[in-house]
Amino acid sequence: MSAKIKQELINPPRGTTDLLPNDFLYWDYFLSVINKYAGIYGFGKIETPIMEDTDLFVRSIGETTDIVEKEMFSFATRGGDKLTLRPEGTASVARAYITNGMSKWSQPVKLFYVWPMFRYERPQAGRRRQFNQAGFEILGGGDPIFDAQIIQLCWTVFEKLKLKNIAIQINSIGDAKCRSKYRSALVDYYRPRASKLCANCRVRLAKNPLRLMDCKEEKCVLIRSSAPQTIDYLCQECHDHFKSVLEYLDEINLPYMLNPYLVRGLDYYTKTVFEFISEGDEYRQSSLGGGGRYDTLIEMLGGEPTPAVGVALGIERIVEKIKEANISLGKKVSAKVFLVQLCDLAKKKSFKLFNDLIEAGVPAMESFGRGSIKSQLRVANRLKIKNVLIIGQKEALDNTVIIRDMESGTQEVADRAKIINIIRKKK
Ligand SMILES: [Zn+2]
Ligand SMILES: [Zn+2]
Repeated sequence: MSAKIKQELINPPRGTTDLLPNDFLYWDYFLSVINKYAGIYGFGKIETPIMEDTDLFVRSIGETTDIVEKEMFSFATRGGDKLTLRPEGTASVARAYITNGMSKWSQPVKLFYVWPMFRYERPQAGRRRQFNQAGFEILGGGDPIFDAQIIQLCWTVFEKLKLKNIAIQINSIGDAKCRSKYRSALVDYYRPRASKLCANCRVRLAKNPLRLMDCKEEKCVLIRSSAPQTIDYLCQECHDHFKSVLEYLDEINLPYMLNPYLVRGLDYYTKTVFEFISEGDEYRQSSLGGGGRYDTLIEMLGGEPTPAVGVALGIERIVEKIKEANISLGKKVSAKVFLVQLCDLAKKKSFKLFNDLIEAGVPAMESFGRGSIKSQLRVANRLKIKNVLIIGQKEALDNTVIIRDMESGTQEVADRAKIINIIRKKK
């Protein structure tokens, strides 16, 4: 019994993981790039609560989507409120836009986030129940140039991360005006073929026909290949909008591919949808993120009519690509000096010296927990720090410091008061 309890305590919940300092070498690289370009493109950072009213997600994402049907972490509070850990970011951002009266701000409002998300999925490679997304949203702008700008920004981020072999897939799924025509064409096409579909797709056909496009089963993919395509059913407005988006992308030479089957699995999308696919070998294609326009979401949630477009990037998958690509992450901040000390009094002096060095802007490292000079020097060696400042009993008493050059092995003794100036002049 006790052994079982112990095991549960030391494992994180299924589908979650710890991020350790070594992971943050890559995470910080990603975060530094995305923070920088979010700023350059004029996006302001937003944080919303990690949980929201369950209804917000049900209404935004759609009742018959996989997320709402099977993947939400929902619970009732002691007070009886129904809350859900956010499974994606756009619904929360749209809610915050209304809550904070952002329609009165200068439009469009450009927002940026880096958030953990929660979905009850079957844990497997690349899928976690708690995962992280970086997202950009442009709210209050219906112009196709904003669709293109969001794509351009993501492309810039991938380029600056030095990630290669990324493809942009893009499609338009129309709006309320033209989507119903497309939906009935789809149903007309699929109904006589229903018996040949997988069980999932038969349910989709009845509940949410657009999602028939998402199935990866071979027999369904085969049937899909002659299915009607969204693009042939767009009304004039949606057609012109999509054409403009593509013209903007052409203008900056972004290599996109039209994917007539791309619909994205969330109900709030209108018009443009897109995805960034990392092309490994053909069996290992993975989506690094995607997004689209959601012109009716904010109005549907009770706000004023507010056209908007956004994207979310999967940080875990991008970090995985950064690791695979063996990208040099640049120089780590390395210390200029390493402190070594020998007795209790020297330890106090060394503690103070460390403080003074940091205050003077000289990066220093130490191994205060180690006693012997030998083991401390070993650490300095491992960290490849050239200058070591040694304070022994004698130095502690007469306020001096031994400066040891680890490369040449030479040593000199200097006054404690002059040490910072001396170190500043050294390489
Ligand atoms: Zn299927
Ligand atoms: Zn339309």
